[in-house]
Amino acid sequence: MNLFDFTEIPADGEHWVRFAQEFLQLFGFHIETPPYRDTENVFDFCAVEQISGKFNSHPFRWLVSCRHKAATRTAVKESEEADILERLLRSRADGFIGFYSTSASSALEFYLAELKNRFLVKGYRILDAKFLEMYLATPGFARISFRYFPNYAQTHPVLHLVDNNYLPILCEHCRKDLFKTLFTENQEGVIVRLRRRKETPTETEIIANLYVACKGECDAELQAKYCSEKKLNTVGWTDLSDLVDSSAFLDWTLSLLRKIGTDELTYTTSALEKELYLLKALAQYTLREPTNKNNPSPQLVSKDNLIFD
Ligand SMILES: [Zn+2]
Repeated sequence: MNLFDFTEIPADGEHWVRFAQEFLQLFGFHIETPPYRDTENVFDFCAVEQISGKFNSHPFRWLVSCRHKAATRTAVKESEEADILERLLRSRADGFIGFYSTSASSALEFYLAELKNRFLVKGYRILDAKFLEMYLATPGFARISFRYFPNYAQTHPVLHLVDNNYLPILCEHCRKDLFKTLFTENQEGVIVRLRRRKETPTETEIIANLYVACKGECDAELQAKYCSEKKLNTVGWTDLSDLVDSSAFLDWTLSLLRKIGTDELTYTTSALEKELYLLKALAQYTLREPTNKNNPSPQLVSKDNLIFD
């Protein structure tokens, strides 16, 4: 039995192309063009990969062809990928990616290999169901796995407890738990750090406070509250959703450690406590163990509608 059921993604094509874009972004590609409809329910877009050499680096443009055939469980045929060369030319692309929820037929694979052997394309890759599954089960991809595959989310823990109790991340203004929004389409939380206004340019920068808020109105209310009288400036906004990726989480932790050890910047004790709380709360997600268990029997399913290890 496959770990992921690709029929969970609607067959309209639009959801599949959105999934393809998010997947490739996590994979390190820059999405260059919005998707355009090739034929009904079939989309192409361009994604760019930066190729780095010892003396040179250059962008490599991929034409990404999205075909979602999980419902029929049939491979993508050569005849379904018509005019590949023309499409590559039109998109000024160097290579071709088939982003498929099933697989490519042998004839299509053979045709693509021929194009490459004859130097008509610089490269091609088929990202099929097997390839995608391999990555979707890893922590860096967990967020899109949970969002696009709700059944998978039901049988695999989303969070694990790092403390005795679940640690929410509340908007300081409206008290909404912004941790929960990380698992939905509306990822709306932002961390805002507040710096004490300097009296002289040489003074050490002090982060005097920080808050978490919903983007927009709640953030504006809190900015007005903190920055009007208390000699504080806002110094930066960080999207909560940017920190749930494991490597971004590690970067954040390391940069915090580096910062507080320098003469240029310091934290007040209360601001540092808030930063450490956020670090611990996000660790409930970013440090979760990936598991391939099909029936992990979560110990706590109902609490706050999140699933715990
Ligand atoms: Zn709010």
